[in-house]
Amino acid sequence: MKVELQNLTKIFPSRNKKSNEEVVAVSDFTFTIPDGKLVGLLGPSGCGKSTTLYMISGLQNPTSGKIFFGDEDVTELSPENRGIGLVFQNYALYPHMTVKQNILFPLQNLKGADKMTKEQMLERAYQAAKLVQIDELMDRKPSELSGGQQQRVAIARALVKMPRVLLLDEPLSNLDARLRLQTREEIRRIQKETGITTIFVTHDQEEAMSISDVIVVMKLGVVQQTGKPQEIYDNPINLFVAKFLGTPPINVFAGAVRAGALYIGDDKVLDVPGVDDREVYVGIRPEGFIPAADGALVCKLSNVEVMGRDVSIVSYNDSMLTPTVRSIVDADYKIDITAENVRFNLKPHKVFLFDKETEKRIYFGDQKAPAAAEEN
Ligand code: ADP
Ligand code: MG
Repeated sequence: MKVELQNLTKIFPSRNKKSNEEVVAVSDFTFTIPDGKLVGLLGPSGCGKSTTLYMISGLQNPTSGKIFFGDEDVTELSPENRGIGLVFQNYALYPHMTVKQNILFPLQNLKGADKMTKEQMLERAYQAAKLVQIDELMDRKPSELSGGQQQRVAIARALVKMPRVLLLDEPLSNLDARLRLQTREEIRRIQKETGITTIFVTHDQEEAMSISDVIVVMKLGVVQQTGKPQEIYDNPINLFVAKFLGTPPINVFAGAVRAGALYIGDDKVLDVPGVDDREVYVGIRPEGFIPAADGALVCKLSNVEVMGRDVSIVSYNDSMLTPTVRSIVDADYKIDITAENVRFNLKPHKVFLFDKETEKRIYFGDQKAPAAAEEN
């Protein structure tokens, strides 16, 4: 089921009686979620992810804008009639019911033509339980399950009505690191098996990158960039997006362009054809540094961490805006850890320039704005 958001906007009235400042939680969100895909809605806390999800579910009404499921305008439809499955961060299972009763619950409330026999309901419940691999635990109470198992029950309960759209709001946040990884792979598998169009909300960029077909990056209610995870990572449209995606995070320097060359401090580090003389912010991905004896960018070496296949070089430069320069290089490079300085050449496609005022990307050489960004 294709989900189309048209100019979706949510404005909350002021909660503070003294000021009239309203909160624009979501602003003019236009996007089409392709049928059968998993879309990651990504952004820092408070950027409007949950509000967007609640509007799609029908739990909140948009201030303006429209929502379509396929060709059907569902903007005025109540949540029960939208055919959605919802999963929240805090499982929200009924504690006095068994797993089986929890999963059966949504089916027992079906009315009219949708009403099912007891056998049909049980079959569906077991199907959903099998899908999330909890069919052995059907007679337990939620308190007798681990967090990961509880979240699986919540997912089974969301799937049992065979929803047209599955909506997940930070479903892994309450799990420990190992379970988070495992459950996220599970969700991806289930989504692929069922082909249900899924919207997955998270503030964790790594989670979004690993699970999503498409990512939507939001900031303060405004969509910043949409695209495949790798495309956004490789071609961020502004400094915010560049900084939000990637571990270790992108390194940011103050720099200047003079006569087609990029300077960081006094070091002439890269040719940047097509850019006029100006001051810029320079973002360099950790994998964009090549250690070299005659490298153009000189940094003070502070630490070298060997991580098996890769080596992480931690260094310092007077022009940087991030605390340290973190570069990841192949373990084949032999770094002299006693040296005072480390010198790098830069990979041009791993270097991004940004306007100092607007923080928007400035493209140089054969760099091009992403296609989706041109449409916006
Ligand atoms: P996220 O899920 O990305 O953390 P939310 O969608 O929950 O963000 O919130 C977006 C913004 O809207 C925040 O500034 C939040 O304080 C505000 N907000 C959310 N719900 C309400 C509400 N019911 N009333 C007033 N403001 C709200
Ligand atoms: Mg939220």
